[in-house]
Amino acid sequence: MLKNRTQNVNTICNTKGPFHQSPLVVVTQGTNPYQNTLTALKSLHLPNLKGKRILLKPNAGRLVPPKRGITTHPSVIAAAIDFFQQLKPAELFIGESPILGVKALDALKIAGITDIARERGVTLVDLDEKPPFILPIPEGKLLKKLRICAFIREVDFIVSLPVMKTHMHTGVSLSIKNMKGVLWKREKARLHQLEFQNQDEKLGKPLDVAVVDMIQVLRPHLAVIDGTVGMEGLGPSEGEPKEAQLIVASCDCLAADSVATYLMGFDPVSIPHLVLSYKRGIGEIDLQKMKILPEDFKKFRQSFLPPPQKISIQYPNVEVFDCNSCSACLSTTLLFLRRFLNQVPPCVFQEDKLIIGIGKELKSPPQGTILIGNCTAGHKKRGLYVPGCPPIASSILDRLKEEEKKNQKK
Ligand code: SF4
Repeated sequence: MLKNRTQNVNTICNTKGPFHQSPLVVVTQGTNPYQNTLTALKSLHLPNLKGKRILLKPNAGRLVPPKRGITTHPSVIAAAIDFFQQLKPAELFIGESPILGVKALDALKIAGITDIARERGVTLVDLDEKPPFILPIPEGKLLKKLRICAFIREVDFIVSLPVMKTHMHTGVSLSIKNMKGVLWKREKARLHQLEFQNQDEKLGKPLDVAVVDMIQVLRPHLAVIDGTVGMEGLGPSEGEPKEAQLIVASCDCLAADSVATYLMGFDPVSIPHLVLSYKRGIGEIDLQKMKILPEDFKKFRQSFLPPPQKISIQYPNVEVFDCNSCSACLSTTLLFLRRFLNQVPPCVFQEDKLIIGIGKELKSPPQGTILIGNCTAGHKKRGLYVPGCPPIASSILDRLKEEEKKNQKK
């Protein structure tokens, strides 16, 4: 069934074969995100969506208030709703499948999206509500199938509305990466757990390859990237907000992501999942081969801080062994450090250092390491293991306090 929808990507989005011919990308900038979004959408050549069912897929996977550079700006959503409603669709939906432990409707409410949607009669959908369906990926290099939120089979046109962010593990997180939010519940974390069976097949970092496997069968019909308040540095959730006041829109999601990456101050060809997407025919990466409006769009270029290589830069008394963790565990670790470092009992420090290990490739961590996440279970005899995929930040503190109590009894 999704195969039909995927074929629709090629027809509805006016894509001829795997590569778009000079895809159109529209960039707008200004202090009014509603107007920026409306202007960008009106400048695109969209198919006739009368009578179609349209899903708006924002970035609203965490319990975070708006304008922090984590969730899609409510005014961008409002403009998208107003734009699509005047195209007379059969129905318009806003749906999300958040990170583990978060309920979609709670996240949409805190993000300021629920009120906007209700005022306009748009249905909110918890994409995790129905049992998933299995989608085969015949040409997947790492993933041969995915468990997908069933609701997306009920729509004709999907709009990916991510926030313009840097990402600790994939460089940037834009419209392609945002489609992880239609993977059912825990399936999102599976993308972080994959390994190549055969070294000869190594085509890049497993996570990058998995994201491209995913997008091969889940290309959105339209990308509207919200750079009103983006995120720089420790994205996707622990970085700093960056007010870029930009919108980038295109029916070619790779072209949109490539232009957004350029406008963030990076080179699109330095981002592995964009390059891999290009090689697999997802869309265009070369800005020279796109039609980008306005022609002087380069004047909007900014310089987002890239993600740092080591967390311990910010915490001199903490050493983090991050061995291919996913952003979920990394964010948990960062959250834990930010909120609870000053409550950590002294007995768990190793010679004045707090040593933390995360990620599936952790090897021989020092004795006494705080082992965060199920991936580190193999080392539990060497340290203080905190299970979960990912665990919540407060459970790390609970585990350390438990250890303190044990020490006091000795
Ligand atoms: S334990 Fe952490 S690093 Fe491992 S798969 Fe789960 S979230 Fe990712």
